[in-house]
Amino acid sequence: MDSKSLYAKAQTLMPGGVNSPLRACKYVNSEPVFIMNAKGAYLWDVEGRRYIDYVFSWGPMILGHQDPAVTEAAHVAVDHGSSYGAPCLDEVALAEEINKLIPSMEMMRMVSSGTEATMSALRLARGYTGRDKFVKFIGNYHGHADAFLAAAGSAAGTVPGTPGVPEAVISHTLLAHYNDLDAVRAHFEASGDEIACVIVEPCAGNMGLVLPKDGFLQGLRDLCDQYGALLIFDEVITGFRLALGGAQARYGIKPDLTTLGKIIGGGFPVGCYGGKREIMEHMAPVGGVFQAGTLSGNPVAMAAGLAALKRLQECNYEGLEARTKALTSELVSIIESKGKPVYLAQVGSAFTMYFSDKPVTDMVSSGQCDYQAYAAYWKQMMAAGVYLAPAGFECAFTSFAHSDEDFERTLDAARNVKF
Ligand code: PMP
Repeated sequence: MDSKSLYAKAQTLMPGGVNSPLRACKYVNSEPVFIMNAKGAYLWDVEGRRYIDYVFSWGPMILGHQDPAVTEAAHVAVDHGSSYGAPCLDEVALAEEINKLIPSMEMMRMVSSGTEATMSALRLARGYTGRDKFVKFIGNYHGHADAFLAAAGSAAGTVPGTPGVPEAVISHTLLAHYNDLDAVRAHFEASGDEIACVIVEPCAGNMGLVLPKDGFLQGLRDLCDQYGALLIFDEVITGFRLALGGAQARYGIKPDLTTLGKIIGGGFPVGCYGGKREIMEHMAPVGGVFQAGTLSGNPVAMAAGLAALKRLQECNYEGLEARTKALTSELVSIIESKGKPVYLAQVGSAFTMYFSDKPVTDMVSSGQCDYQAYAAYWKQMMAAGVYLAPAGFECAFTSFAHSDEDFERTLDAARNVKF
């Protein structure tokens, strides 16, 4: 079956024909291709066309698709049973590995998605402090739990209002623009003894990539300390992406709680939250804050995640960052030579090339970019076999599986784009 007929059928069975909104390609005025296979840096659609991947399942596949060690670990795990609903070996090994690489996560809990991780971390912060309010940043996305669906980023930012989320639930969500420390300070000055936590993407990845300004993350740390609130780093994207120790290692800031997902599952459904022992011990069954999960600590996901983290410790993050920089600076000059101004944000192997003549520092500046130009770029890159996120307000990712030749082909595709 071809993508067009599959999409027609899918639309009769699933809202928008998809299981996650962005996949419908609405924001590039297009339709999705259906994927049948993925290996290394490539995806193949159902019609056999090959694409160089820069989405990598929205971040998890930093080693490339079907990394041999990860695939082997998953196969071995499946042969021992796919779910026990009981403690297993690899959940302890994975927790130990995460704790070694991200020492602020003294204790942790495995869950099955990033959404569950952030939702549970927020509940813990509220349970621990006995406070209800929290600060979140406009354009940051922390999954789809009710409390976070106020001015969220990614596809949630395109839904007007928050239908289905009671006003009472988000009345405790205090908003601030990303990089605006004064706005956060004002919230603390107005209601400091009611704020349980500040949750932040230490590098924002859901309004395009937006980097923290100097002093922003340290400022959040200081305000949380001053007012007895917890600082939560949502490292679902940045964990094991920016560095082995995540954004907290790269920027040298220690959060109280961290949320992880994506990479730590090696491509299987996983999330994780953790932090200071004294805080984590408020979780049931030790403490009273409740959270549970039928598939939490799933043995196949734990085995794949453990294999991925072990492999990543042999990988050259600095090398990938340098190669990504070379790729993006050439991409920028190609697009600029066609008369389109570009603002590039990049850190490690993540980047966004905004069609904008101004720096992008928050949701307002991100919202002012030329997304029609992105749509035109996207369509032509896809036609040339380069798979990019079907929305201009997302990150692109490189992987350890990309070859120099893949980057060259990508640049050739960009050279042929017409606006
Ligand atoms: N936090 C961040 C920073 C994310 O980018 C995402 C998803 N892209 C989530 C949380 C939610 O993760 P999931 O989609 O696995 O629920």
